[in-house]
Amino acid sequence: MSWFKRESDKYVSGNGPASVADADEKRVLTEGLWVKCLGCRQIIWKADLAANLNVCPKCQHHFKMGARQRIELLLEPGFEYVDGGLRSTDPLEFTDIKAYKTRLSTAQKATGLDDAIVNAIGQLGPHAVVISAMEYSFIGGSMGAVVGETIARAADRARLGRMPLIVIAASGGARMMEGVASLMQMAKISTTLGQLDDAKVPYICILTDPTTGGVTASFAMLGDLNIAEPGALIGFAGPRVIEQTIRQKLPEGFQRAEFLMEKGFLDAVVPRRELKGYLIRALDFMKA
Ligand SMILES: [Zn+2]
Repeated sequence: MSWFKRESDKYVSGNGPASVADADEKRVLTEGLWVKCLGCRQIIWKADLAANLNVCPKCQHHFKMGARQRIELLLEPGFEYVDGGLRSTDPLEFTDIKAYKTRLSTAQKATGLDDAIVNAIGQLGPHAVVISAMEYSFIGGSMGAVVGETIARAADRARLGRMPLIVIAASGGARMMEGVASLMQMAKISTTLGQLDDAKVPYICILTDPTTGGVTASFAMLGDLNIAEPGALIGFAGPRVIEQTIRQKLPEGFQRAEFLMEKGFLDAVVPRRELKGYLIRALDFMKA
């Protein structure tokens, strides 16, 4: 026979909620209000993070940001979304562990977008610009035929309207579910950017975390200015594949924005808070 008998298994301390039901209710109320920073491992209040442009107030780690938020951050109110309404036709009727069609409809429902890209035209300070922003939460921001066509349309729009083009890259690379059709987008976008260059209209690419694969290997590195956010992962193949191929240990900070800047791959690493001012100054300079 035991000396002490607990009346219930559900132990609650003196300062705690009066009942387990209360504790459950508290958990529900606070769930999703906090987030752990990937940079400093500290717990941040989500409202603080949102107020600081999704940058950790403690260590300045730049969290990912949605395409529409990006556009709102840069353009003055009154901008217009354009070139929407394109959807992938699933040309290969591709299925891996899930059907590509299912992945598409799930992503469309979750993001409210047709694909991993949003185009907008509007004013960036005194400059009329075309912005094409990628949405990482849509199948990893992967580049299929719709992303390719939408960026190509943004480039055409920029060329015909003589407005600078700004692309905000956030992507895992080409969309394997579209096979060779996704790889062809690299050539297609590069061609329209070549035409933009011939017409002497500026193109600026902003590389955000992450920008990898076929996106890095094509339009993300073709800007008149290639700038990145601090700490962004930028590369072509993953570090493990590279280590196995060259049989060497990779240096510290490999494939991060600061490392690429040091090696001459980027023109600047610009914190999110300073991005708009930086772009306005760059366009002032290009116009002059
Ligand atoms: Zn942090």
